Amino acid sequence: MRGVVKIAAKKFNVLVNGVWCKGCSLCIGVCPKNVLGLSDRLKAEAVNQENCIGCRQCENICPDLAITVQENESEAK
Ligand code: SF4
Ligand code: SF4
Repeated sequence: MRGVVKIAAKKFNVLVNGVWCKGCSLCIGVCPKNVLGLSDRLKAEAVNQENCIGCRQCENICPDLAITVQENESEAK
């Protein structure tokens, strides 16, 4: 019987500090996976969080340090 290799799938949470975010959209433009969008209140928010690959470009480009990308590990199904 062949062994089954379980691969840990990395998942990411993208957190936006709604007080610090000024809605400049730089993070939305830089994200390669279209994870981010602007909310009704003109703050960045993760609208497709499951697509995040954890590249942290959004975190790095934000002039107001309003984005934090957190990594969670879970087993792939
Ligand atoms: S780059 Fe920062 S300040 Fe600009 S929209 Fe994104 S989170 Fe908000
Ligand atoms: S970490 Fe990368 S993929 Fe995830 S939201 Fe930020 S820019 Fe997009």
